Amino acid sequence: MSTTDITPATVGPWHPAAELDGGTDDCGSGLLLSLTGAMRGIDVGEVLLLRTQEKSVLVDLPAWARLAGHELLTVVDDGAGSGPWRLAILRGERTRAVQEPVFTGGAAAPLGSRLWLYSNFHCNLACDYCCAQSSPKADPRLLPLDVASTAIDEFVAQGGRELLVTGGEPFLHPDLGAMVAYGSERVPVVILTNAMVFGRGTRRETLESMDRERVTLQVSLDSAGPALHDRQRGSGSHARALVGIGLARELGFRVRVAATLRDEDLATGGRLHAALDNLGVAVEDRLIRPVAAEGFADDGLHVSLDTVEPEPTLTVDGAWWHPVAVTNTHLKVSDSPLPLSDVLDVMRDVLAVQVAGAAEGRAVFRCT
Ligand code: SF4
Repeated sequence: MSTTDITPATVGPWHPAAELDGGTDDCGSGLLLSLTGAMRGIDVGEVLLLRTQEKSVLVDLPAWARLAGHELLTVVDDGAGSGPWRLAILRGERTRAVQEPVFTGGAAAPLGSRLWLYSNFHCNLACDYCCAQSSPKADPRLLPLDVASTAIDEFVAQGGRELLVTGGEPFLHPDLGAMVAYGSERVPVVILTNAMVFGRGTRRETLESMDRERVTLQVSLDSAGPALHDRQRGSGSHARALVGIGLARELGFRVRVAATLRDEDLATGGRLHAALDNLGVAVEDRLIRPVAAEGFADDGLHVSLDTVEPEPTLTVDGAWWHPVAVTNTHLKVSDSPLPLSDVLDVMRDVLAVQVAGAAEGRAVFRCT
């Protein structure tokens, strides 16, 4: 076995700092010692590329990595199911996540400066914490293009500065391209996406048609390696999200990454930051937030008029206090998304009463 310094990116999207050839050794015959030494030879946040011809390593290594505080990022099979394999292992530091704050914060945006549009409610995934209760079987509830355009016109006329398009998976909306083009000609647009459906066909064309200067993609990635992400969002979704992130960046888009974590998974936050360092995602393009107790999630952050700052949100069938609360009838502002001025007036009145009542303890819960 030997360890060498390498420079090229040779395992998925990850950039290894060093390489270990484990040959045919298994975890019971010396590999763990050489692996432990190799991990000590790289810095926290760096990636080791492990080559192995021993299949049992694929079974044993995830448990070792978890116990050692590292993260198995990906496994590449260079044969047809029989190896050899290349494994990317992120060096973690078990204490980092509890020593540093994991969740990213945010400043409240002045009411009326940001507008959220739910383009649709169906999704290729059915994540266990989805606040919108989206899934492949969900009623699409498509936001018509003319309603979106009218809302955008009103928003811009009133001084709006940023449009955010979410769902469901927005790239499943047949008019997403036109909707985003209409918006991005007027204000910067952020699209929240799982990055899994725009790789080919008309959705790829839609993506490629978008203005790189005015459109940002915010992609969900809950963990450095696939274990947590796939548990929350579905098997194989982590790998496909990474492919989508790579494609979007290749096409010249600014990509933000957003993670959603439960309290019991906070210790993974440090490794996620390290992985994003490795991918070259800027710190300001990372959002780590708690699960909100909305939609499919039974527990998490309590969302109410008093606990989250207002973020006007329009769906085909109404307007809401915040994008994380579109299944919560207590936070429905109006039964119609239009006119936007009425929606904002109601929200301003509520806010004024809260301010007058010195509503302390309200948290900023930013989704971007
Ligand atoms: S969280 Fe996002 S990706 Fe997951 S089901 Fe909901 S809308 Fe789809």
